[in-house]
Amino acid sequence: MRPTPGVEKLITSLAAEGWDIVLITDANTVFVQHWLKVHGLLNKITKIITNRAFWQGDRLFIEPCMRQSSCPRCPSNLCKSHALVEWCATHSYARMVYCGDGRNDFCPATFLPANAIVFPRRGYPLDDLIKKTMATPTPQVKARIVPWSDCYSILQTIFPGKFVETNTLTTQQM
Ligand SMILES: [Zn+2]
Repeated sequence: MRPTPGVEKLITSLAAEGWDIVLITDANTVFVQHWLKVHGLLNKITKIITNRAFWQGDRLFIEPCMRQSSCPRCPSNLCKSHALVEWCATHSYARMVYCGDGRNDFCPATFLPANAIVFPRRGYPLDDLIKKTMATPTPQVKARIVPWSDCYSILQTIFPGKFVETNTLTTQQM
Protein backbone atom coordinates (compact mmCIF):
# COMPACT_ATOMS: atom_id res chain seq x y z
CA MET A 1 0.00 0.00 0.00
CA ARG A 2 1.44 3.38 -1.02
CA PRO A 3 1.61 5.95 1.78
CA THR A 4 -0.84 8.87 1.68
CA PRO A 5 1.05 12.05 0.66
CA GLY A 6 2.63 13.63 3.72
CA VAL A 7 1.79 10.83 6.15
CA GLU A 8 5.43 10.21 7.11
CA LYS A 9 5.90 13.94 7.78
CA LEU A 10 2.65 14.06 9.78
CA ILE A 11 3.59 11.10 11.99
CA THR A 12 7.20 12.14 12.57
CA SER A 13 6.16 15.75 13.33
CA LEU A 14 3.46 14.73 15.81
CA ALA A 15 5.88 12.35 17.52
CA ALA A 16 8.58 15.05 17.66
CA GLU A 17 6.07 17.44 19.26
CA GLY A 18 5.41 14.83 21.96
CA TRP A 19 1.96 13.74 20.81
CA ASP A 20 0.69 10.23 21.42
CA ILE A 21 -0.22 8.55 18.12
CA VAL A 22 -2.77 5.76 18.38
CA LEU A 23 -3.38 3.73 15.25
CA ILE A 24 -6.78 2.00 15.21
CA THR A 25 -7.31 -0.10 12.13
CA ASP A 26 -9.26 -3.09 10.89
CA ALA A 27 -6.09 -4.48 9.31
CA ASN A 28 -3.86 -6.81 11.35
CA THR A 29 -0.68 -6.63 13.44
CA VAL A 30 1.52 -8.37 10.86
CA PHE A 31 0.52 -6.02 8.03
CA VAL A 32 0.54 -2.83 10.11
CA GLN A 33 3.90 -3.49 11.78
CA HIS A 34 5.49 -4.44 8.44
CA TRP A 35 4.15 -1.29 6.75
CA LEU A 36 5.32 0.96 9.59
CA LYS A 37 8.76 -0.71 9.68
CA VAL A 38 9.24 -0.34 5.91
CA HIS A 39 8.42 3.38 6.18
CA GLY A 40 10.59 3.89 9.30
CA LEU A 41 7.60 4.86 11.44
CA LEU A 42 7.17 1.91 13.82
CA ASN A 43 8.93 3.61 16.76
CA LYS A 44 6.84 6.80 16.31
CA ILE A 45 3.53 5.06 17.08
CA THR A 46 2.38 5.00 20.70
CA LYS A 47 -0.14 2.20 20.31
CA ILE A 48 -1.48 -0.02 17.54
CA ILE A 49 -5.02 -1.32 18.06
CA THR A 50 -5.89 -3.86 15.40
CA ASN A 51 -6.68 -7.53 14.77
CA ARG A 52 -3.95 -9.85 16.07
CA ALA A 53 -2.20 -11.86 13.40
CA PHE A 54 0.50 -14.52 13.60
CA TRP A 55 2.21 -16.94 11.25
CA GLN A 56 2.00 -20.66 11.78
CA GLY A 57 4.16 -22.27 9.11
CA ASP A 58 3.13 -20.50 5.92
CA ARG A 59 -0.38 -19.66 7.09
CA LEU A 60 -1.36 -16.31 8.56
CA PHE A 61 -3.91 -16.56 11.37
CA ILE A 62 -5.96 -13.51 12.31
CA GLU A 63 -7.78 -13.08 15.61
CA PRO A 64 -10.42 -10.37 16.07
CA CYS A 65 -9.31 -7.18 17.80
CA MET A 66 -12.35 -7.44 20.10
CA ARG A 67 -15.69 -9.16 20.28
CA GLN A 68 -18.39 -6.54 20.69
CA SER A 69 -22.15 -6.56 20.21
CA SER A 70 -23.10 -3.32 21.97
CA CYS A 71 -22.44 -1.00 19.02
CA PRO A 72 -24.85 -1.76 16.17
CA ARG A 73 -22.99 0.58 13.81
CA CYS A 74 -19.76 -1.41 13.83
CA PRO A 75 -18.69 -4.98 13.03
CA SER A 76 -18.25 -7.34 15.99
CA ASN A 77 -14.44 -7.45 15.64
CA LEU A 78 -13.85 -3.70 15.95
CA CYS A 79 -15.75 -0.65 17.12
CA LYS A 80 -13.20 2.17 17.03
CA SER A 81 -15.25 4.12 19.61
CA HIS A 82 -14.88 1.23 22.07
CA ALA A 83 -11.15 1.17 21.37
CA LEU A 84 -10.90 4.95 21.92
CA VAL A 85 -12.96 4.91 25.12
CA GLU A 86 -10.76 2.13 26.48
CA TRP A 87 -7.55 3.99 25.57
CA CYS A 88 -8.81 7.31 26.96
CA ALA A 89 -9.79 5.67 30.25
CA THR A 90 -6.08 5.55 31.13
CA HIS A 91 -4.83 8.58 29.16
CA SER A 92 -6.06 12.14 29.38
CA TYR A 93 -5.38 14.65 26.63
CA ALA A 94 -5.68 18.43 26.33
CA ARG A 95 -6.09 18.12 22.55
CA MET A 96 -7.38 15.28 20.42
CA VAL A 97 -7.41 15.03 16.66
CA TYR A 98 -8.84 12.14 14.67
CA CYS A 99 -7.86 11.38 11.13
CA GLY A 100 -9.72 8.82 9.03
CA ASP A 101 -11.37 7.92 5.76
CA GLY A 102 -13.44 4.76 6.14
CA ARG A 103 -17.04 3.99 7.01
CA ASN A 104 -15.83 2.54 10.34
CA ASP A 105 -14.35 5.94 11.29
CA PHE A 106 -17.79 7.53 11.60
CA CYS A 107 -18.63 5.90 14.95
CA PRO A 108 -15.50 7.29 16.69
CA ALA A 109 -16.02 10.68 14.99
CA THR A 110 -19.31 10.98 16.90
CA PHE A 111 -17.48 10.13 20.14
CA LEU A 112 -15.05 13.08 19.91
CA PRO A 113 -15.59 16.09 22.19
CA ALA A 114 -16.36 19.58 20.82
CA ASN A 115 -12.76 20.79 21.30
CA ALA A 116 -11.38 17.94 19.15
CA ILE A 117 -10.79 18.09 15.41
CA VAL A 118 -11.90 15.33 13.05
CA PHE A 119 -10.09 15.13 9.71
CA PRO A 120 -12.17 13.20 7.16
CA ARG A 121 -10.36 12.39 3.90
CA ARG A 122 -12.09 14.32 1.12
CA GLY A 123 -14.27 12.15 -1.14
CA TYR A 124 -14.06 9.01 1.05
CA PRO A 125 -16.90 7.34 3.04
CA LEU A 126 -16.21 9.17 6.33
CA ASP A 127 -16.43 12.53 4.53
CA ASP A 128 -19.79 11.53 2.98
CA LEU A 129 -21.21 10.23 6.28
CA ILE A 130 -20.20 13.39 8.15
CA LYS A 131 -21.71 15.60 5.43
CA LYS A 132 -24.95 13.62 5.72
CA THR A 133 -25.19 13.91 9.50
CA MET A 134 -24.31 17.64 9.45
CA ALA A 135 -27.20 18.23 7.01
CA THR A 136 -29.71 16.78 9.51
CA PRO A 137 -31.40 18.75 12.34
CA THR A 138 -29.50 16.60 14.88
CA PRO A 139 -25.89 16.29 13.64
CA GLN A 140 -24.01 13.57 15.50
CA VAL A 141 -20.52 15.07 15.24
CA LYS A 142 -19.60 17.69 17.88
CA ALA A 143 -15.92 18.07 16.94
CA ARG A 144 -14.60 20.64 14.48
CA ILE A 145 -14.56 19.13 10.97
CA VAL A 146 -11.64 19.78 8.61
CA PRO A 147 -11.63 17.70 5.39
CA TRP A 148 -8.19 16.91 3.91
CA SER A 149 -6.62 15.66 0.70
CA ASP A 150 -3.01 15.37 1.85
CA CYS A 151 -1.44 15.15 5.29
CA TYR A 152 0.47 18.46 4.95
CA SER A 153 -2.83 20.34 5.30
CA ILE A 154 -3.57 18.36 8.50
CA LEU A 155 -0.20 19.44 9.88
CA GLN A 156 -0.89 23.07 8.99
CA THR A 157 -4.26 22.95 10.77
CA ILE A 158 -2.78 21.46 13.95
CA PHE A 159 0.35 23.64 13.95
CA PRO A 160 -0.52 26.79 11.95
CA GLY A 161 2.53 28.18 10.16
CA LYS A 162 4.97 25.93 11.98
CA PHE A 163 5.88 23.41 9.27
CA VAL A 164 5.27 25.52 6.15
CA GLU A 165 8.90 25.88 5.06
CA THR A 166 9.71 22.23 5.61
CA ASN A 167 6.59 21.20 3.71
CA THR A 168 7.61 23.24 0.69
CA LEU A 169 11.06 21.68 0.80
CA THR A 170 9.67 18.17 1.03
CA THR A 171 7.26 18.79 -1.84
CA GLN A 172 10.08 20.15 -4.03
CA GLN A 173 12.27 17.16 -3.27
CA MET A 174 9.52 14.82 -4.42
ZN1 LIG B 1 -19.12 1.62 16.96
